[in-house]
Parts: sequence; C-alpha cells; structure tokens
Amino acid sequence: MFQGILITKDDAGYRAGLQAIDEAVLPEGDVTVRVAWSTLNYKDGLAITGRSPVVRRFPMVPGIDFAGTVESSSHPAWKAGDQVVLNGWGVGEVHCGGLAEVARVKGDWLVRLPAAFTTRQAMAIGTAGYTAMLCVLALEKHGITPGDGEILVTGANGGVGSVAIALLARLGYTVVASTGRVAESDYLTGLGAASVIDRKELSEPGKPLGKERWAGVIDTVGSHTLANACATTRYRGAVAACGLAGGMDFPATVAPFILRGVTLYGIDSVMAPQAVRVEAWERLARDLDVAKLETITSEIALADAPAVAAKLLAGQLRGRVVVKVGG
Ligand code: NDP
Repeated sequence: MFQGILITKDDAGYRAGLQAIDEAVLPEGDVTVRVAWSTLNYKDGLAITGRSPVVRRFPMVPGIDFAGTVESSSHPAWKAGDQVVLNGWGVGEVHCGGLAEVARVKGDWLVRLPAAFTTRQAMAIGTAGYTAMLCVLALEKHGITPGDGEILVTGANGGVGSVAIALLARLGYTVVASTGRVAESDYLTGLGAASVIDRKELSEPGKPLGKERWAGVIDTVGSHTLANACATTRYRGAVAACGLAGGMDFPATVAPFILRGVTLYGIDSVMAPQAVRVEAWERLARDLDVAKLETITSEIALADAPAVAAKLLAGQLRGRVVVKVGG
C-alpha cells in the first residue's frame, strides 16, 4: 500500500482524495518509480475536479507529470536509482499518474533528470514549463530572433505563461505579457516582461486583420485571444498555440495566414516524440534561470491537491505549484 490521490466515479458521484492505495491499482509497466515530487497543471485541475472528462479510466491516480527515482526496472534504459522525469503520455488520464508515492510506467516514456535540476525543480518546471519550452523552440525554429520585435505571451500569470516569459527574457526577447490580473504586473516584469497589457484587449471579437505588432506569439488562452493574436502578428511572423484557458474555439479568418504569411504552430506536449522532449529538457537546463523559477513556485502537500486544484481552475493561483509526494 502507498499514499496517493485517488479519483473514483460511481453511483455516489465523482470524488478525489488522499488515501492508501493498493499496488494492484497500478497498471502494467516495465519501470516502477518512487515519486518524489509532482505538480498541478491545468489538466490536473480538470481531472481532480471532474470539470472536464480528462480521466477516462477509474479508479485513477491523477498527475500528468512526476519526478522521482527508479525503484525497479526491466527496461534496458533504466536501473534502480536512476532519477527520471515523466510528462504526459496519457499518465494521469488513462494510466495512473504522479500524485502518489509510487508510479508504474513504460520506460520509453521517461526522460533522464537533467543534472542541472533537482527533482523538485524539475516539477517546478513541470509539463507547463516543458510546454513553454516547446513553444519557444517553435518560434526559434521559425527563425524569429530577439531583434525582430515584440513577443506576446497570453495567460501570463499561469504556469506556461510564467515560464515562457522567463525563458524568452533570458534569451533576449522583448516580451509583452497579457493578463487578466494587471495588478500582478510587478510579478510579470520581475520575470522579465518588458510591458503588460490587459487581456481584455485581446479577448473580445476582433477584425480579421489588425495593426501588425507581434513578431511572435505564445498563446495559452485560445478562442478570440488566439484569433486576435494571429490578426495582429506581423508579416511572416509565427504564433505557437498550446492552450485553451479562455476557450476551445478558434473564431478566426484565414486573412492573417494568406495575406500576411503568418504561421500557426500547434504545440502538443503529451505525445511529443522522445527526441523533442530531450531537446526541450536540455534547453530548459541551459536557458531557465533557476532563481527565477523559485520565485514563481509554491509548494503544497499531497493532501492539499484537491483544494488547490479548484483554486487553479478558478484562476486564483499564479506561476507553478509543486506537490511534495515523497520529497
Ligand atoms: P494555469 O491555470 O497555470 O494558467 C492559465 C492562465 O490563463 C491563468 O493564470 C490566466 O492568466 C489565464 N486565464 C485563465 N482563464 C482565462 C480566461 N477565461 N480567459 C483568458 N485567460 C484566462 O494553466 P497552465 O499555464 O498550466 O496551462 C495553460 C493552458 O495551456 C491550459 O489551457 C492548458 O490546458 C494548456 N496546456 C497545454 C499543453 C499542451 O501540450 N498543448 C501542456 C500544458 C498546458 P492571467 O491571470 O495572467 O490572465
């Protein structure tokens, strides 16, 4: 038996709470990991509260990511004592996840913990930070350089937004942070944003094309925000879309794409190939200021995860939340 958050769904309803879990609940896998730290991502909030049908098998241990130490392995790449990170692959959705002391997964899903990070720092980054890096890589590979102009980051106070700002600023880009919490501007400029705009400027229905402003965009919000971001991206600029915090719709026209040559990159972290993950984690180790990471991180106990998940969905948190599992 081990301690963890378990989600159950039956005639009595949808419930998530800390309890002793029998190892028999764990799915098959060739690596068993003693989880040290996990985290709360937006998707974990949806899973724990049941607000969206993220969890597709019950009972389920939520937690789409974790960092810890291999306890036993029959996979050739891993041996007991190795420190590993896991992001995505359906873990915490269809395969028991990281918000428990023990996880059993496929060795092919694991990434070696970069030497630059502790397991706690890796989860302070978490899937949100790794996704932010995937977005930055998309803009870089498009050829956008710091001299090209402003980069817009939406959902700026969130996990993806906060890490994206810190990364872009460290790389020399001029970052404009869009937020519903303009009162938190000091936090955003402290991360490296050059200026802050109210998200209302982007969240209302807009025109097919607006004044060209952004060399690049990292969007975590979707809906009108994404449409307006595309409509105000400069000629041959690029938008990396990774989120739906404002809505899943995309009420846009093709005008930015066919008249300004704007490129829209879709960013998925869940099923990203191994080589892409390794590149993202190597770049995080090189380009993320760990002192800044600490300033955006708050820590909670495993038992607090359900209550904090509800706050996360209510937009009451900022930055990243790490969950102490084994510690
Ligand atoms: P957080 O909850 O940490 O942050 C989301 C932020 O979005 C909030 O802090 C808020 O920022 C803003 N926001 C919230 N509600 C609204 C709204 N109604 N309208 C406009 N803005 C809003 O989430 P994460 O940063 O972890 O994730 C952000 C998004 O990215 C989510 O949709 C998540 O599902 C997605 N995601 C996708 C991944 C992928 O693989 N594609 C991986 C990881 C995340 P502020 O207060 O500054 O306005």
